[in-house]
Amino acid sequence: MAEDVILRTEGLSKQFMGFYAVRDVSLSIRRHSIHALIGPNGAGKTTCFNLLTVSTPSTAGRIHYNGRDITRRDPASVAASGMVRSFQISAVFGQMTVLDNVRVALQRRAGGSFAFWRSVRTLDRHTPRARELLAAVNLDRYANELAANLSYGRKRALELATTLALDPEMILLDEPMAGLGHEDIGPITRLIARVAQQRTVLMVEHNMKVVAELCDRITVLQSGEILAEGNYDEISSNARVREAYVGG
Ligand code: ADP
Repeated sequence: MAEDVILRTEGLSKQFMGFYAVRDVSLSIRRHSIHALIGPNGAGKTTCFNLLTVSTPSTAGRIHYNGRDITRRDPASVAASGMVRSFQISAVFGQMTVLDNVRVALQRRAGGSFAFWRSVRTLDRHTPRARELLAAVNLDRYANELAANLSYGRKRALELATTLALDPEMILLDEPMAGLGHEDIGPITRLIARVAQQRTVLMVEHNMKVVAELCDRITVLQSGEILAEGNYDEISSNARVREAYVGG
């Protein structure tokens, strides 16, 4: 029986003026897995992420999400169908409280409205769910703080809560540990593990300790192409991967 695949690409490619940033990438992401995309700088990880969320159009290949071809869909409709990108700190509103950040995210999901003045009057009905989400990311104690006053690590947790407000089935995390202090890495790692219990997570991550701890499966990119794929033990003992990292 075929494994349960949530996201699949076939021959996905992106050329910039004749140069392949991503070339012939065929990926299968299993439902409820934590899958890492790794590789040296310039390997094509960011481009690959942009292709998967269709925020950059591919020049060749197909993307299937939940069995449906999303290659030519627009980014908003892909997000609405459950595949959401997280960890963009700019998405946190610093001058709003932590609770309001999550309530506005819930309101936007419910009404699809970006008109803030209209949202404010109906925010109250989202309070119980917003508190649940804050508890899930261990921020319940900070509900009434201004988001701007949170530490960097807690802003990450808040960003994750606002992403969870969209009730995504699959979350793409772009370097979740980047910029975090040593003390925040453990808590954010545990948070991602908890979030992934009910969802699928695809992440680009440089911290191999975190990848080893979290990820069921790893795809290694080099020069835009898949160099290797497997679990952490397979990848870390792969001679071609070692060479790519030492050489890269
Ligand atoms: P990574 O995230 O693994 O560091 P990128 O996806 O950012 O790699 O980049 C892969 C390659 O594609 C790099 O050589 C980069 O210079 C090139 N590239 C990325 N974006 C563009 C662009 N908009 N125009 C031209 N080349 C690009």
